[in-house]
Amino acid sequence: MTAPALSWEKLLGAVRAERDGRYRAWFEALPPGELVNGELQVVVADPAQRQYLHSECTATFQQAAMRLTDHLVSVRFVAPSDGSSTPVVASSRSPLISSPLNPDYTFEQFVVGPSNRLAHAACRAVCSQPGIPYNPLFVHGGSGLGKTHLLQAIGAFLGAADPPLNVVYVSCETFVNEFVRAIETGTLVGFRDGIRRADVLIIDDVQFLADRESSQEELFHTFNVLHQSRRQIVLSADYSPSEIPTLEDRLVSRFTWGLVTNVGQPDRETRHAILQKKARLRGVEIPDEVLDFIAEQVQSNIRVLEGALTRLVTEANIGGKPLTVDTAREIVGTFQGPSGRLLQVSDILEAVSRHFGVRLPDLIGRKRSRSVSHPRQVGMYLARKLTPLSLQEIGGYFGGRDHSTVLHAERVIEVDRTHDDATAVALTALTQQLLARR
Ligand code: ADP
Ligand code: MG
Repeated sequence: MTAPALSWEKLLGAVRAERDGRYRAWFEALPPGELVNGELQVVVADPAQRQYLHSECTATFQQAAMRLTDHLVSVRFVAPSDGSSTPVVASSRSPLISSPLNPDYTFEQFVVGPSNRLAHAACRAVCSQPGIPYNPLFVHGGSGLGKTHLLQAIGAFLGAADPPLNVVYVSCETFVNEFVRAIETGTLVGFRDGIRRADVLIIDDVQFLADRESSQEELFHTFNVLHQSRRQIVLSADYSPSEIPTLEDRLVSRFTWGLVTNVGQPDRETRHAILQKKARLRGVEIPDEVLDFIAEQVQSNIRVLEGALTRLVTEANIGGKPLTVDTAREIVGTFQGPSGRLLQVSDILEAVSRHFGVRLPDLIGRKRSRSVSHPRQVGMYLARKLTPLSLQEIGGYFGGRDHSTVLHAERVIEVDRTHDDATAVALTALTQQLLARR
């Protein structure tokens, strides 16, 4: 799932930790809120409860939601009888296996600059004539540079077209997992039928196909069926088709039939404009010089940029700190080591690979034996602890895995750490070694 995931249980847990018993009666029995367009909508029983929660607990809910989703979130308490609109629940337009789209990932919210101008134009062209100018469209580029945003913008646009097209958007990991499950449960016909009824098939992070022979074969046939009937196919990956390891030649050739386009590192103006857009989307006014400072300091990737902004807003809301360059400097500083360098996931991969004697391709590959999956989970755990990246982002670095896989790894290692001495020792050694590198 790519929309920011929010576990209501976890959210309440975090709010409980902040608020003592006096307040709890006001929120304990609330039904799960819905996260829509970056707004957490929580339905309460009556206007009195709304008023109370609004004035006493908004900031706590907001902080918890931002921490859990890694995104800017605003909070609204809605009472059924006070005339406010009832919450809009993101509709799942397709009965197929399509994953929900993040409502923030639209063309309106995408900033166009020199680094992504061509990719953006290609996505727009696909929207105006699906299946015609570029089929397939293949978008590649480094992590956190806007591929998922663009792919989902296409999905949202075409899903809302008149008449709406049947859009199937999935991460490649979901495609692979659903395919494997369909084989195991004898439901392959249904799986194929679902995916082949798509007018538009969007598969994110196809580098996840590396080393997965039967999934590649399945995708090959799916591709042929859809392409022959001029249905639009959109794909993304960290690398261009020919650079994806072990991708069969026949898929490489098909993936390059249409247009292969690239998103690159945004320049400073684009970074600034993106920050501004993200802040406005959440209704936060941030002084220009603060945005300038963050845009200048954080150059690596847009998710990290967004992470810095989210923390700044949290600190301002909750910690009562001013929205100034000094506060921003403090926050950016927590991401960086003494040399000013950010720890990269590639550093973690390399250290874990050396420590456990596991080859890098295996670490990001599909092998499931414990000798490989344990180091992989340790790597994901360290990435959670030592980088500001989101679950989705970390999954991307580990071979295009879903956010839920990273979350699972984090939990498993958290448990191992307390029950297994070898894991505890490995984590301490790796953490020290990595922090010394920054
Ligand atoms: P990728 O799929 O390439 O790893 P994402 O599409 O997930 O990257 O982008 C990471 C974050 O950066 C998302 O929150 C996305 O909205 C934001 N982002 C990336 N590029 C842009 C852009 N040009 N304009 C606005 N937001 C962007
Ligand atoms: Mg992505």
